[in-house]
Amino acid sequence: MALTSGLGGQLSIDLGALARNWRALDKVSAGALTGAVVKADAYGTGITMASKALHAAGARFFFVATPDEGMAVRAALPDAHIFVLNGLYPGAANLYVRQNLMPVIASVAMLEEWLAKCLERNEAYPSAFHFDTGINRLGFRLNEAGYVRERIQALGYAPQMLMSHLACADQPNHEKNRTQLALFGSVMAQFPGIPASLANSAGLMTGRDYHFQMVRPGIALYGGRAVTGRKNPMAPVVTLHVPIIQVKEARTGETVGYNASYSLSRDSRLAIVAHGYADGFFRSLSGSNARPGGKVAIRGKLCPVVGKVSMDQIVVDITELGPNIPEPGEGAEVLGALIGADDQADAGGTIGYEVLTSLKGRYSRNYVGDGNLPQG
Ligand SMILES: *Cc1c(COP(=O)(O)O)cnc(C)c1O
Repeated sequence: MALTSGLGGQLSIDLGALARNWRALDKVSAGALTGAVVKADAYGTGITMASKALHAAGARFFFVATPDEGMAVRAALPDAHIFVLNGLYPGAANLYVRQNLMPVIASVAMLEEWLAKCLERNEAYPSAFHFDTGINRLGFRLNEAGYVRERIQALGYAPQMLMSHLACADQPNHEKNRTQLALFGSVMAQFPGIPASLANSAGLMTGRDYHFQMVRPGIALYGGRAVTGRKNPMAPVVTLHVPIIQVKEARTGETVGYNASYSLSRDSRLAIVAHGYADGFFRSLSGSNARPGGKVAIRGKLCPVVGKVSMDQIVVDITELGPNIPEPGEGAEVLGALIGADDQADAGGTIGYEVLTSLKGRYSRNYVGDGNLPQG
């Protein structure tokens, strides 16, 4: 495959696969509304295009982390319901109101600021309430539920949704899932009639008990593995090809890269590939003699990274390709059919989420498979 852009590499995002993934998850959680988490530039795929494709597939409820991300979704989708997971940023209530963003309120301070805005404008602006059932990240503590209930009852205010977040959903048998489920039930009992949402992608796949009225998948939409130790049923969305810039021969005993951390045990053929840690290929994917690193596919075959990943380049051992020698300018597959985000993550000691959200490198982004986008 020849690559043409001046940046060299090409990140390709399959909006049709994204749409199919959303519809598949919507089927699994048939009794609940299926939202779409599009934070962090839609897990590296581009928040505007991804949100439009998800909307065309049927999604109406979008979750972002920051108000800026909320504004990006609002600009793309005038009728979307948008929740800001990080909550109400101090001093930003006017912005949320103007952009019609719903803060996921996580503390008494956020609650008071939001209620003050509602009182000032005499308008019950929508929000969600986030309760911490054991992750010890964002959320009201459980013993604040009584105060919160009294406070809003006194004003005649009600949130659109109650929310909590699972700490261990990627391990479906972890006992903390049942504990959090039970504690979430105790919160819901204190706010009768308010719709509830607990499940991320993994929670959605864990079972109906976790679905309630809304599920919030992220990683699974983008083809990532949500549950550990299980076959990933989602369609891959992202492929990344980057150019080979030089091919060279090297001799037994020579070393490769910074720190001379890899020495060749045979005469070898090496491909120098224009892709480095500045492009999202982690330095932990370096290959030493003691520890194998990441792989990329060249001419349809997985080949190992040898030596340190540097800022702009990796060196790949292509000796095994024999006479099938790639040309400079030809693409090496970093993400695609032969090696996925979770494979790179496993090799680099991280998770697919980090691989996808690190896709901000020096390559062009192109979209394929329109996901039934309306024209214009
Ligand atoms: C990121 C996030 C999600 C989506 O999680 P995935 O594991 O990507 O499906 C859902 N809920 C909250 C609160 C989140 O922060």
